[in-house]
Amino acid sequence: MCNIQKNMTMTRVLSVPSAKAPFERTTIERRELRPDDVLIDIKFCGICHSDIHNAFDEWGGGKFPMVPGHEIAGIVVAVGSEVTKFAVGDRVGVGCFVDSCGKCEYCLNGEEQFCTKGVINTYNDEDYDGNLTYGGYSQKIVVKEDFVVRIPDALDLDVAAPLLCAGITTYSPLKHWNIGPGKKVAIVGMGGLGHVAIQFAHAMGAEVTVLSRSMDKKSEALSFGADHYFATSNPATFSELAGRFDLMLNTVSANLDVDAYLSLLRVDGTLVNVGAPAEPDQYHVFSLIMGRRSIAGSLVGGIRETQEMLDFAAQHGITPKIEVISADQVDEAYQRVLRSDVRYRFVIDISTL
Ligand code: NAP
Ligand code: ZN
Ligand code: ZN
Repeated sequence: MCNIQKNMTMTRVLSVPSAKAPFERTTIERRELRPDDVLIDIKFCGICHSDIHNAFDEWGGGKFPMVPGHEIAGIVVAVGSEVTKFAVGDRVGVGCFVDSCGKCEYCLNGEEQFCTKGVINTYNDEDYDGNLTYGGYSQKIVVKEDFVVRIPDALDLDVAAPLLCAGITTYSPLKHWNIGPGKKVAIVGMGGLGHVAIQFAHAMGAEVTVLSRSMDKKSEALSFGADHYFATSNPATFSELAGRFDLMLNTVSANLDVDAYLSLLRVDGTLVNVGAPAEPDQYHVFSLIMGRRSIAGSLVGGIRETQEMLDFAAQHGITPKIEVISADQVDEAYQRVLRSDVRYRFVIDISTL
């Protein structure tokens, strides 16, 4: 038997064999540790709505069988011969991507997600050697040390997991658009991303308004630090809030009436989309022209900023509100996310795999 095979790591996973099929328990091999790799024993993995878009192949290009999961928290159990940043026993996280070219202007700038060679996603992707990537619904994962972050001691691993995607995806645009004291920010949609976004925007000093479909989540929104809360199912909301916000962060997984939301921006305000519905949005250019408004998008965040976000969360006591589930409950959890019946992130206890 050859050496490489002997040193590969067999790991149990939850895999979806084809689009929309139920999850199956199976095993895969993780690659032999390269000199700059770490082997991580995964303890918890969050369920992001992107996992559902991918497992249901709503965005197209799904690679099956698929092992989703990019909100990974665990412990380092082995390191390659040249690893310098991590040691066995370290508490670590892995987010949405696991490799990039390291040489292009964006990689050099710490924004690996925009790598011109193409960032390698944690799952549902092919790495630079042509091997499929498999994500965090798994007991173990092998990742290049440069794509691993440290989880501060103040954060428990289960609540840290969702920060690896929901956290960085909301922190990064708030920083990029200079959110701070004196800024009026609206968070649209209060799910996995939205409920973390409220906490970050509040900690950064902004005046935070939540726009949710119903009044159901009001008391929790206020407990997360929101200053105001409005239901978008009430048409009066749109007249009352016209021209109010500097920034709106749209975390909704479905298409919205973009013109109606743009009308809530003040002059020079920006609507930043992080929610990623499969179908194109529509809007009228006059909604932009009349207030010199902008529409933008944002994709997760780089590794350096992910570490900064975790440290910020630890310092400000920001923690996702989670429901820990077992590996047997993932199919049901997907249905509950689709019904918005989640408060506010499902996290898989990987020991149940
Ligand atoms: P989630 O937990 O399902 O939250 C989405 C929220 O959107 C729901 O809680 C709900 O909030 C609102 N919503 C759902 N359906 C709606 C509809 N038909 N009309 C209006 N509002 C609706 O999802 P998530 O994990 O936060 O992810 C949100 C989106 O962000 C997904 O599309 C995901 O793929 C995307 N995403 C993007 C990035 C990126 O880098 N850009 C990263 C991660 C995720 P209310 O009940 O409060 O209305
Ligand atoms: Zn995600
Ligand atoms: Zn690059």
